[in-house]
Amino acid sequence: MVGISSLLNPYGDERDGTRYGHKRPSAPVVVWHITDRCNLRCRHCYAALPASGPPMDREEALDFIGLLSDLSPPALLMSGGEPLMHPDFFLYLKAAAAAGLRITVSTNGVLIDDSAAAEIASFGVPYVGVSVDGVGDVNDSFRGMAGAFQRALDGIEALASAGCRVGLRITLSRPLLPHLESILALALDLPVSRLCFYHFVPVGRGALDSGLSPDRGDEIRAVNRIIRWADSDARSGGKRPAEVLTVGDASDGALVYDYLQGQDPVRAASARELLLRSASRGAGGIRSVRWDGVLFPNQFSWDRPLGEWRDLACLKSRGTTVE
Ligand code: SF4
Repeated sequence: MVGISSLLNPYGDERDGTRYGHKRPSAPVVVWHITDRCNLRCRHCYAALPASGPPMDREEALDFIGLLSDLSPPALLMSGGEPLMHPDFFLYLKAAAAAGLRITVSTNGVLIDDSAAAEIASFGVPYVGVSVDGVGDVNDSFRGMAGAFQRALDGIEALASAGCRVGLRITLSRPLLPHLESILALALDLPVSRLCFYHFVPVGRGALDSGLSPDRGDEIRAVNRIIRWADSDARSGGKRPAEVLTVGDASDGALVYDYLQGQDPVRAASARELLLRSASRGAGGIRSVRWDGVLFPNQFSWDRPLGEWRDLACLKSRGTTVE
């Protein structure tokens, strides 16, 4: 993950403390894909896989939450499929909150009405990421449901009204790139404080669609545009302090550094220091646990199982260190 806004504004934002700051978590962020079910059918879906083992039952899922409570990861990211499709989503949310875990939710937003938003907020969820793949019909066509875009926007408004911090999640697939400007404009019109761009990874259904991988030059141009947009928005006192990140290509940090070298050598030097620090200290990283309990290095490497969720217990005693 590359915190573009943090690198553009070194030392000005503490939200990326676990990435660039002095707190060094040794436990990983855990992404829990609680179900493979989804109400959408996105072209790039990494979670669309042939049936694996049986899903964790309720007792096993609660045991898993118990282990996470001992492990104290920096965050538990509840994802899917679409997590709200799981009949026990709110039960697990409640259990994780009671266990003291810092929970974030990743959703397509379609099922989030005022009631669901209020319930999510009631468990102290500090952040909900809502995914879209374009504006209006572009999104609906890519994601396989007419009206999905408007419902995602309604979900974002409901979450913000309920007091949750909300972000937009966008995948930089080839079909999305021509619509990047409309996404950037949208971000300024919504009550979102975070904009997170994922580089496309050809796994799951996405591996079957040769039209999704962007040309490398187009991808770099898109990231450079995002960097310029993030910097100009911050400098002009944009409508809101958007936190802008990319996920999936650490070399984006070098693009920020290159950009700053041409703009402001002082900020460039500070950004370089942050990049060197984050590269050298080996933070806790990420782990992904799928609905069937299998443990993976991350959510895009489901061809490389590491074991099962109980194997996370080996990290129990390491805790969090401070440099
Ligand atoms: S990418 Fe997310 S929202 Fe889209 S089909 Fe897959 S799980 Fe559902």
